[in-house]
Amino acid sequence: MLLIDGKKIAQDVREEIRIEVEEAGARGLRAPGLAVILVGEDPASQVYVRNKERACQQAGIISFAHRLSAGTSQAELMDLIAALNADDRVDGILLQLPLPKGLDSDRCLLAIDPAKDVDGFHPENVGRLSTGLPGFVSCTPAGCIELLRRCNLPTRGRRAVVVGRSNIVGKPLASLLMRPGEYGDATVTVCHSRTQDLAAVCREADFLFAAIGRPRFITADMVKEDAVVIDVGINRTDEGLCGDVDFAAVSSKVRAITPVPGGVGPMTIAMLLKNTLQSWKGRVGC
Ligand code: NAP
Repeated sequence: MLLIDGKKIAQDVREEIRIEVEEAGARGLRAPGLAVILVGEDPASQVYVRNKERACQQAGIISFAHRLSAGTSQAELMDLIAALNADDRVDGILLQLPLPKGLDSDRCLLAIDPAKDVDGFHPENVGRLSTGLPGFVSCTPAGCIELLRRCNLPTRGRRAVVVGRSNIVGKPLASLLMRPGEYGDATVTVCHSRTQDLAAVCREADFLFAAIGRPRFITADMVKEDAVVIDVGINRTDEGLCGDVDFAAVSSKVRAITPVPGGVGPMTIAMLLKNTLQSWKGRVGC
């Protein structure tokens, strides 16, 4: 059984980015810039934003943090997004969700310039992904595919089952798995809370992706022998963090599996930096 070490792979990706930025700096190019907007005091969001700032710093990416009070109006937020869209030092704009009550996150996400939408949430980038055009891909699903690529686990021609149909994970993951290519070209089934006989569908998977948000929901009887299992779930329980997969029982029968923590989680920030680098490259012309 291969334990997919997301922590190590994410570090590798981040180090590659750091080297690229350092070399560009030596050639006189400006550093990439990522603007992060945090509204309100949500403790989990504060931790996420801090981690993103630290990751930027380590990679040589300038982080422009905008911490706004929970009382910020929609108009103020829209003005800030417009200013960041126009700021040439800013290659990527990240709006930390969820927003406090009273603020319309859809309106804000639509206002972000799609060319700076490094989270890949803007409908233009979602459309680009589903029509096969270049654009920004949502970081967590992109991280899942990067794990497979770096572990030489191609999906071409194989059966993939994605449990979860959210806009940020399940749907873009399904689009990526359908794309032509060695790490696409899968026959994809997407499941959700209305799927009948979920266990039987999951058992058909050569590649099983769990993005449900329920601790240890995927049990050993739902997994085919020798399947590759990618656990996107992050659940806080009394015993600490756990995924959507019953790791202890499932890991003994599979070909490869991601742990939680230390699997998909660290890849999300790594892919955010990668998207920022991609945007910056387009802007500085390298
Ligand atoms: P979400 O928006 O709540 O979506 C959950 C999906 O699971 C929905 O499509 C839902 O179906 C489906 N589902 C719920 N109960 C089910 C059941 N009993 N049987 C089958 N399907 C069921 O969650 P999300 O944002 O995609 O996140 C999923 C998990 O990934 C969470 O644990 C989250 O914390 C984690 N996550 C991790 C990262 C990371 O960086 N690693 C990033 C994002 C999310 P319906 O559509 O029918 O309701």
